[in-house]
Amino acid sequence: MWRLDELELGDLDADLTTALTYVNEDPVYELSVAELAAIKAVYDLYEVMLGQPAPGLQPAILIAARPILHAAYNQVQIGGRLEGLRSRILASTESCPYCGFGEVKDLDHYLPRGTYGELAIYPRNLVPSCGPCNNAKRTVYPGMPAAQGPGLIHAYFQPLPDEDFLHADVEFDADGTLSVTFRVDNPGMDPGLAAKLQFQLDRLKLNARYRAQVNKYLSEQRTAMLMLHATGDAVFSEFLQRSSAALVASCGRNDWRVALLRTLAADPAFCAAPERYVGPPPAA
Ligand SMILES: [Zn+2]
Repeated sequence: MWRLDELELGDLDADLTTALTYVNEDPVYELSVAELAAIKAVYDLYEVMLGQPAPGLQPAILIAARPILHAAYNQVQIGGRLEGLRSRILASTESCPYCGFGEVKDLDHYLPRGTYGELAIYPRNLVPSCGPCNNAKRTVYPGMPAAQGPGLIHAYFQPLPDEDFLHADVEFDADGTLSVTFRVDNPGMDPGLAAKLQFQLDRLKLNARYRAQVNKYLSEQRTAMLMLHATGDAVFSEFLQRSSAALVASCGRNDWRVALLRTLAADPAFCAAPERYVGPPPAA
């Protein structure tokens, strides 16, 4: 969750040519030498800015080409001339970087194409995401009017500290219902970054969406948990701790499962009677 490996850029010239040429080889739009150079300069600046907005990303010279590139994104959809670009980006991750569990089916324009048409088909402005995250994010981006919040982090570019910052709060109801709330908590972290990460949790309604995931995950772990718990509370706590640590390698240290297991390992009520919260052992 949160981060993706930086995507290979691929052949940007070929992408532009494909976008701006019909299958019968007629041009959709013929870029002048100056326009092509300006698009390349925008791409370069996007890298330098790590995907964050900058005035130079909307140069005046691209006023005519901007809506054409905006419309050319339709060719990235299924059946379009740039479908290969779409497949390549979707294949780069198994789950959505915004939520950490959703199946990737959409491409999210990190900087919205309605505002930044120049970047409509730029591969690193396209973040593979699940439908619910893409819909919830909509056109939010950093630098928007304050009412829209600080924007989301860039899954390809945002450096994150190698420290725990996602924290799970767990509450137990008398009837054995376990409710989990995730929040960003790391006092040493840059406050701007912390606010952005928390905004991301809120904007994508992740706490509500994690509820079903947490239940599913705990029910999958139930048999192992109950067997281990039979050996004693301390061993069980150690098991949860080690399970959390083992997940770090595959999911990252701030994955929701890692945070959940870390909290459960330190919780005496859960470690004393996990069957109350994950259900009784299945019938043999
Ligand atoms: Zn998602």
